Amino acid sequence: MIDYTLDADGIATLTWNVADRPMNVLNLASIAAFDAAVQRAIGDSAVKGVIVTSSRPEFVAGGDLDLIRRIRTAEESMASSGPFSRTLRTLETSGKPFVAAINGTALGGGLEICLACHRRIVADDAKIQLGVPEVSLGLLPAAGGTQRLPRMIGIKAALPYLLEGRKVAPAQALDAGIVDDVVPADQLLARAKAWLLAEGPQATVKPWDAKGFKFPGGTPQTPGPTQLYFGIAGNLLGKTQGLYPAPEAILACVYDGCQVGIDAGLKIEQRQFAHLATSSATKNMIRTLFYSMGEANRLAHRPKNVPKRDYTRIGVLGAGMMGAGLAHVSALAGLQVVLLDTSLEAAEKGKAYGAKILDAQVAKGRMAADKRDRTLALIEPTTDYAALADCQIVIEAVFEDRAVKAEATRRAEAAMGPDAIFASNTSTLPITGLAEVSSRPAQFVGLHFFSPVEKMPLVEVIRGKATAEVTIAQALDFVKRIRKTPIVVNDCPAFYANRAFGMFPYEAMTMLAEGVNPNLIENAGRMAGMPMPPLALIDEFSAELLYKALKQSRLDQGAAYREQPQDAVLVAMVERFGRLGRKVGKGFYDHPADGKKTLWPGLAELYPLAAEQPDVEQVRRRLMHAQSLEAARCLAEGVVSARDADIGSLLGWGFPAALGGAVSHIDTVGAARFVEECDHLARHHGERFEVPSALRELAAAGGRYLEA
Ligand code: NAD
Repeated sequence: MIDYTLDADGIATLTWNVADRPMNVLNLASIAAFDAAVQRAIGDSAVKGVIVTSSRPEFVAGGDLDLIRRIRTAEESMASSGPFSRTLRTLETSGKPFVAAINGTALGGGLEICLACHRRIVADDAKIQLGVPEVSLGLLPAAGGTQRLPRMIGIKAALPYLLEGRKVAPAQALDAGIVDDVVPADQLLARAKAWLLAEGPQATVKPWDAKGFKFPGGTPQTPGPTQLYFGIAGNLLGKTQGLYPAPEAILACVYDGCQVGIDAGLKIEQRQFAHLATSSATKNMIRTLFYSMGEANRLAHRPKNVPKRDYTRIGVLGAGMMGAGLAHVSALAGLQVVLLDTSLEAAEKGKAYGAKILDAQVAKGRMAADKRDRTLALIEPTTDYAALADCQIVIEAVFEDRAVKAEATRRAEAAMGPDAIFASNTSTLPITGLAEVSSRPAQFVGLHFFSPVEKMPLVEVIRGKATAEVTIAQALDFVKRIRKTPIVVNDCPAFYANRAFGMFPYEAMTMLAEGVNPNLIENAGRMAGMPMPPLALIDEFSAELLYKALKQSRLDQGAAYREQPQDAVLVAMVERFGRLGRKVGKGFYDHPADGKKTLWPGLAELYPLAAEQPDVEQVRRRLMHAQSLEAARCLAEGVVSARDADIGSLLGWGFPAALGGAVSHIDTVGAARFVEECDHLARHHGERFEVPSALRELAAAGGRYLEA
């Protein structure tokens, strides 16, 4: 795992090579091997200096999350993270010079090894990333990162790396003072050795271990950093609503740890790490953001035995908002795109949408002009269905109208090759029904993208009754090819994401109709960690959209349709008051063109406040449980898997990652308690809180949907 060599000049080289893993990672075995190698070098009097490097493309990619996932108690946490932190401190104070020869990406614990060394030399390769991104998974760098980085570059400069997980390339790391030298890759080891022999012996004491250490930029007690600290702490709470413990723990490490000596600081860091590693928020984030999302992006559950489809040319029908976005992301991924609309002008307009985005990138220096030109050249606007002949997939994004879609499907299929698949991006029309007009329904699938396509990472792959597994596999290959994250959903009205998410605005409108104070509803939504409070959100996407869906449901279900409490609110807002939302300047809020939006005073007359108001926690619970309960129904009906349901909720509608997702939220509350709370809500607020029997059985058995 750690290759050890000693040359004739007394330079030992410790080379990371965790051969049994796809990348160099820190796990129990590699940490122990590294410790043994460090002790050996320190203990050998023939060793004058030590190079730490790697024989893999990366230096060290970070900690093994399997290790952290298994931690249950603070003691287990200390036992798991403590030894590595101590190895690095031993190395730092050994009296022998250590230099990190950083040949590739060093993240998390990988960069912390470098920070403990007495010098950091990095290969000049812009693809190398350096950073401590632990915060993005609810963790903190627990091998000295929160202590050494501020002591090296100052608190103010260190915080973006620690709190935002900022990653930088070698040149920026040099500017920031995180590394000491950037050299051509082929000179890396020679330069490291030269430094060890020439300057190493005088550089074995770190500034913070020397007498009279001056904290760069001041300690947390000096005015600048103190103000900064309180400013950031206040802001942070506003952003995280106290749901995400990692940023707060990191701030505590920096604030408390930087007022004491480094050894005490490292102990504080260990304690804070234990607090995170045992918290449900961190476990939830690791489960969904790392494991479940990793599986989805790798297509781990793709039907086996279907050869991978290599896409080169695709077709998009309809160059409106969705079609234009789809063409843009596909061209960015290097695919040729036939972009078809009813007039050439409309098709050209769709292409122009992507051009505008790319122009902005070029203007900001983020993209070369010739890359923009090459990307744009891939999009071929047309009105001619014959151009679809060689496309491997055609995605339909025309008007949300069955007849228009049917016509487009027939014409496209007549032109497409026999192996090509057809996908509809409908948001509300069941795929099985749309496939009825298809001449090859087995090759017909739903690909539900979210708006704006270039920003939203999720795609629901919808399996209709007739959709073949081969088609699902090929659709998944396409989603991966354009670098989106797929979840697989069995056809049902509204599919999964919109169906479960819809409960958030619906429950808000229901409460409004019951006389709950709209300010309270909005505050509870904010406190729940949702990206936007529910009534404000309805104004953003427009009440009209929900109203149209309501009309469609009434039409589709006829006498079987059961009126929901929110229906009357929607009808009033749209039919009586024309308050469609932000696009017309009025909805649940007034949206003045030149000022801040405020809740519409008319709501008070329309929905007088009930004499007794719930507390904010009760409101929050209704808003969040309603979504999770709908997700549980989807699971019970076999619409989606628990993992995909979690991913869909995080990526599709911004369900808070600290809760792990709409399904993990039930596990976090505990199935038994969740059922009890829903039963209570059902008694007081209506049958929509009735739990499906599968969930009741899970609760009775003391089970969970996903492992902890
Ligand atoms: P849009 O009105 O912006 O664009 C539709 C485009 O289709 C127009 O350019 C129109 O000229 C073109 N078109 C109409 N009939 C056509 C035909 N026969 N052949 C070729 N082109 C034709 O609509 P949109 O918002 O892009 O939505 C398109 C589809 O995507 C709809 O099914 C919608 O439900 C779905 N969708 C929309 C969103 C969203 O947020 N807007 C999200 C997910 C899915």
